[in-house]
Amino acid sequence: MLPVYKHEPFTDFTVEENKLAFIEALQLVEKQLGKEYPLIVGGERITTQEKITSINPSNKNEVIGMVSKANKEIAENAIQTAENAFQSWRKVTAEERANILVRAAAIIRRRKHEFSAWLVKEAGKPWKEADADTAEAIDFLEYYARQMIELQAGKQVNSRIGEHNRYYYTPTGVCVTISPWNFALAIMAGTTVAPIVTGNTVLLKPASTTPVVCAKFVEVLEEAGLPAGVVNYIPGSGAEVGDFLVDHPKTSLITFTGSRDVGVRLYEKAAVVHPGQQHLKRVIVEMGGKDTVVVDNEADLDLAAQSIVTSAFGFSGQKCSAGSRAVVHEDVYEEVLEKVIALTKELSVGEPTTGDMYMGPVVDEAAFTKIMNYIDIGKEEARLVAGGTGDSSKGYFIQPTVFADAAPSSRIMQEEIFGPVVAFSKATSFDHALEIANNTEYGLTGAVITKNRDHIEQAKEDFHVGNLYFNRNCTGAIVGYHPFGGFKMSGTDSKAGGPDYLILHMQAKTISEMY
Ligand code: NAP
Repeated sequence: MLPVYKHEPFTDFTVEENKLAFIEALQLVEKQLGKEYPLIVGGERITTQEKITSINPSNKNEVIGMVSKANKEIAENAIQTAENAFQSWRKVTAEERANILVRAAAIIRRRKHEFSAWLVKEAGKPWKEADADTAEAIDFLEYYARQMIELQAGKQVNSRIGEHNRYYYTPTGVCVTISPWNFALAIMAGTTVAPIVTGNTVLLKPASTTPVVCAKFVEVLEEAGLPAGVVNYIPGSGAEVGDFLVDHPKTSLITFTGSRDVGVRLYEKAAVVHPGQQHLKRVIVEMGGKDTVVVDNEADLDLAAQSIVTSAFGFSGQKCSAGSRAVVHEDVYEEVLEKVIALTKELSVGEPTTGDMYMGPVVDEAAFTKIMNYIDIGKEEARLVAGGTGDSSKGYFIQPTVFADAAPSSRIMQEEIFGPVVAFSKATSFDHALEIANNTEYGLTGAVITKNRDHIEQAKEDFHVGNLYFNRNCTGAIVGYHPFGGFKMSGTDSKAGGPDYLILHMQAKTISEMY
């Protein structure tokens, strides 16, 4: 029996030994930069002419790796391969499938800093953020392994004399996993192993900005004993390969994490029944956020400021859970704003070559341009009180930026920026604060900083988000502790890392046997 699940501890980089081990891992990764990575279909390595060049967002001239790029023909072949592999994989016992996940977790744990170092290089993550990403990947493996073992027995239903009834879960078939770059290891791993541990086979299309860490993860699955064809690694253009896989009549399940626009489009496309398709596709779509930290007038204002800063600027605001809006009661508004400006000015921004660099770059040129455009919009709509500048000469660095006095309906208060930008709006009462907090199309995370018990109870009922936190930041959900997923246009509320997640990848079968 597996020991009770506990989340993977984070590394303390103030300990010299840990710091040195991480530097060693970075050096190990540096020696491997620029290598080529083939596609993997049915265990076979396929090299294509066309390549994705993955670069270091801190240093545009540093190539992380050259990754073969799938086209429609390869994707078609991969679907057939996954369908064939499904016939045997679906009959492998839940224990065996779960054991592969546990072995993969052990391999990653042994190479933890190495994986985090890949994230530093390929995604521009500061050490702590990279360490948390790797820990979360380990957590998904450990948590879903245990959950599958629990679910294999199915659920209790009634039987009666002469009739024995059973209710249990079976896999659905071929799953397409389309993952984002911002949790290039954790979300990619979680949305890959959930379908496989439940008996499905997977076509894995990672984000084009972070395909190398994904290739490393697929190697781990192979080392852990995953049979060929169960996970097929097919990086490629989202628009070309992604669309093709989503439309394919043999695709039974799609698990996507990414932006609202792409997610909504996939959701619509998956609803279309194509010739030869004999089932309706299941879709898990987890999308963006415009998350709010609400500060009440009865609150610890230092905690409020710290929560706003951590939520807004961790990993340069490139989290779906990032707190890009602060809605503060007018009685304490100026004081909280001053504290946030002071804390923001202390943050370090630069290449994450040391453990104490707070913010690294944003992920690529497109992100840099988009965020800088929003900063220009913010200058028109509100009052710039910190940051506001960027430098893309070597890497894509943007200073943590704070806007004050934004109207609740302004674009910087409504649209997902996905960068280090937070806007403040003033509320006249707690009711008003909640009204502003709920006034976007998103409903992913939110935090309330208050000492008022009635307001806590009110927010529990009326703050409409999938993950609601009190007296802390609105980022940093942990597998098994804070099941994660949003309401409204933030997605299908799958609650990754939660007790109901795996069932979304399976079909329940009722069996009645007369005796
Ligand atoms: P994205 O641009 O939507 O890309 C996500 C994935 O979709 C990538 O693999 C991308 O491939 C692929 N893709 C793009 N266009 C596609 C298409 N037409 N058909 C099929 N696949 C397509 O999002 P991102 O920039 O990577 O990630 C940031 C977004 O993810 C933010 O909005 C963030 O809030 C959201 N997010 C949400 C959660 C959550 O749990 N709710 C968690 C993390 C991130 P290419 O890279 O090849 O374009």
